[in-house]
Amino acid sequence: MIIDAHGHYTTAPEPHNSWRESQLLAFSEKGILPKYPNISDDEIRETIEQNQLKLLKERGADMTIFSPRASAMAHHEGDSKVSMDWSRACNDLIKRVVTLFPDTFMGVCQLPQFPGTDLDASVRELDRAVNELGFIGCNLNPDPSGGNWTSPPLTDPYWFPIYEKMVELDVPAMIHVSSSCNRNFHATGAHYINADTTAFMQLIQGDLFSKFPDLRFIIPHGGGAVPYHWGRYRGLADMLKKPLLTEHVMKNVYFDTCVYHQPGIDLLLDVIDNKNILFGSEMVGAVRGIDPETGHYFDDTKRFIDAADISDGERAAIFEGNARKVFPRLDQNLKVKGL
Ligand SMILES: [Zn+2]
Repeated sequence: MIIDAHGHYTTAPEPHNSWRESQLLAFSEKGILPKYPNISDDEIRETIEQNQLKLLKERGADMTIFSPRASAMAHHEGDSKVSMDWSRACNDLIKRVVTLFPDTFMGVCQLPQFPGTDLDASVRELDRAVNELGFIGCNLNPDPSGGNWTSPPLTDPYWFPIYEKMVELDVPAMIHVSSSCNRNFHATGAHYINADTTAFMQLIQGDLFSKFPDLRFIIPHGGGAVPYHWGRYRGLADMLKKPLLTEHVMKNVYFDTCVYHQPGIDLLLDVIDNKNILFGSEMVGAVRGIDPETGHYFDDTKRFIDAADISDGERAAIFEGNARKVFPRLDQNLKVKGL
């Protein structure tokens, strides 16, 4: 099986996006929150069949671990209630996609992380998403302020309530920022990659996994700058008198393959132990065009894994086995289906 561990519903039906606009307008003008629109199954089917499902089939993958559009999470907008209502609406929509295409999509939730507030609402929504909606993980935003980095580092006790819930439910988090309201940082070109790199360095500086040995994080976009600068991070761990990264961080952290050229993928596979790598494309997402040098979509990352100089066993682990280990609820779901 080929499991894409990183996909977002970037093609959600327009009434869903318009409702978000009216929600924010109602907040800013102290108006009445409009009712969430009726969206038919056919509308949802159409947005999936013509986009994610079509591309998945064309590229030869089988399923996608699917979450709400990351750039639209925008945790900094509105207040705690706005964030909760929006997260629930987004997660409920993902649930409808999963219900319509149960063999192709598994849900991962957005959390209502309004900056400057505690994580109680996020803990509740994670519980609802897993126990009521059947989701298998969450996206955790390390910077809900949207580029101003006002939250404590991921190793701070501030975050522990959500980690405790993740461990209790046995679900991982993808560390995933949202849009940037700091114009120095382009969202997908700088803020995303900065955040991936920043999260990894925070994990080196702290000692989170001795407290939470079963906690699992996926750092997307190939781990940001980390694989390319692996020597720097090993050296910094040494300078900071931390254990080897293989012990200190890499028992709990995984990178995906959302890297949009062959040399980048080759470097990732060469530097990072392949048991720590999950196939991902972030399709349809950050970079939607066709590479003029190859004639293929930039985000068609399966081609790069197919072409990489690794064993068939390693390829199978990256495409399927590692995802089933990191997402035990996915593994259980597939086993029930005889897969
Ligand atoms: Zn993403």
